[in-house]
Amino acid sequence: MTYAVRARGVTKSFGDVLALETIDLDVERGEIHGLVGPNGAGKTTLLGLLLGLASPDAGSLEILGTQVGRAPSVHEGVAGFVEGPGLYPSLTARKNLATLAVLRGIEPRTRVAEVLHEVGLTEVADEPVQGFSLGMRQRLGLASALLGRPRLLVLDEASNGLDPAGKRQAHAVLTELARTGTSIILSSHRMDDVESLCSEVTILDTGRVVFSGPPATLAAEVPALDYRLVLT
Ligand code: ATP
Repeated sequence: MTYAVRARGVTKSFGDVLALETIDLDVERGEIHGLVGPNGAGKTTLLGLLLGLASPDAGSLEILGTQVGRAPSVHEGVAGFVEGPGLYPSLTARKNLATLAVLRGIEPRTRVAEVLHEVGLTEVADEPVQGFSLGMRQRLGLASALLGRPRLLVLDEASNGLDPAGKRQAHAVLTELARTGTSIILSSHRMDDVESLCSEVTILDTGRVVFSGPPATLAAEVPALDYRLVLT
């Protein structure tokens, strides 16, 4: 079995706040894994560890076969964002991507056109991003993460605020990426946001894993109180 992520006993504190407490997480190659939990559960903290924005205080974290150390570092093959993709509203979609590509040392000429096509934004590529719907911005954010052909894609609140059509489009892109071997981990406040898309789900609550497994088995395994907690 090839794991994109293997976490065992991962712990992370900010001062007195224990944001993650002995977390275990397995994400296989080509798996779409949902990370669900209420405010303050630790989702963003865990995604930040995967992206190399911070490092664990304790425990073992292996990403794409490499053990993560105790200092923040770039994780080769991992891309994504926490708290929004950071786009320039006055620039066109193409210019946004070309700028990011240059900053990351990626040859933009062909790659920008490819990722625009992958997320279905070719027709609006030369329009300024400020006129884009939320769904289009989300897909452009996804395109920016895809520029470097990541093997692990990390997305925070990926379908937050999307209308049903926007969600369907985003889900179709992610499903296709997973089919071709990309592992994806995406967070949400809501179980119903991720259960149709994800084959595995981890539910966090106040820094601890309260459930991990296929979404269909959730109702049987988690006490009714906890189940309601993640649906609100
Ligand atoms: P939300 O859905 O609201 O984004 P979350 O599940 O992503 O919540 P985190 O943002 O990971 O949760 O926060 C987990 C806990 O860690 C919270 O108690 C939060 O206040 C705390 N925390 C996170 N980052 C920091 C930080 N940089 N400094 C201090 N405390 C932090």
